[in-house]
Amino acid sequence: MDMHAPPQGRTSAPGSSAGRPPLALALTGVVRRYAQGQAALEILRGADLAIAQGQSVALVAPSGSGKSTLLHIAGLLEHSDAGEVFIDGAPTARLPDAERTRIRRLAIGFVYQFHHLLPEFTALENVSMPQMIRGLSRIEADKRAKELLSYLGLGARLTHRPSELSGGEQQRVAIARALANAPRLLLADEPTGNLDPKTSDHVFGAMTELVRATGVAALIATHNLDLAARMDRRVTLREGKVVELA
Ligand code: ADP
Repeated sequence: MDMHAPPQGRTSAPGSSAGRPPLALALTGVVRRYAQGQAALEILRGADLAIAQGQSVALVAPSGSGKSTLLHIAGLLEHSDAGEVFIDGAPTARLPDAERTRIRRLAIGFVYQFHHLLPEFTALENVSMPQMIRGLSRIEADKRAKELLSYLGLGARLTHRPSELSGGEQQRVAIARALANAPRLLLADEPTGNLDPKTSDHVFGAMTELVRATGVAALIATHNLDLAARMDRRVTLREGKVVELA
């Protein structure tokens, strides 16, 4: 993807003017600083990243380099200090919080290192609930939830509560939940970082298959280079900027 850093304050989406579909995610000139005593710690220093629809990108960088910060900004959970975040071609930085929340719910799915499932609900309910919150009937929501969970090999675990599932199974449910509302963009922060290597491999494999099958764009932070090799592209963070890896 040929994407040059645009001038500050640009509000048209990169890639949108040439008759191509809008990028699922574009970050342009993203800066993020944290106050540290009197000084400011600049974690992101003009980060640019473009992810086309349906493209999967691994973010491979050492701890403390800003991966979570980048994912939080891309997911509209955190504001940047400068730069723009385009979701599906639309700029978001200056939108009111309520509108950012609406876009996040509609267009973005998250998977974290820990599953964050609701403990008192079954696997099926955990995946149906976000859809019902969006207005689907229970029957419609359950149908998609069953399809997603079955695809992830959990067809026989629908009525299990999180405590009755293994770590790998819990994480599969979290992946199904993230994709329940058919988002345009999946963001995952070390989604298998808490699993043993074999389980991690299986869960990551199932996730990448589902990402391909649903056509969602994905940005997935991982330490594991073998897992990263299964994605379409690999990027890292160097001195606060996104750098493409071979
Ligand atoms: P990674 O996900 O790559 O481990 P993070 O994005 O979590 O990195 O953090 C990058 C750096 O920013 C770290 O040095 C961390 O201490 C710092 N940092 C993250 N969040 C905050 C915060 N809320 N306040 C101050 N410093 C922070």
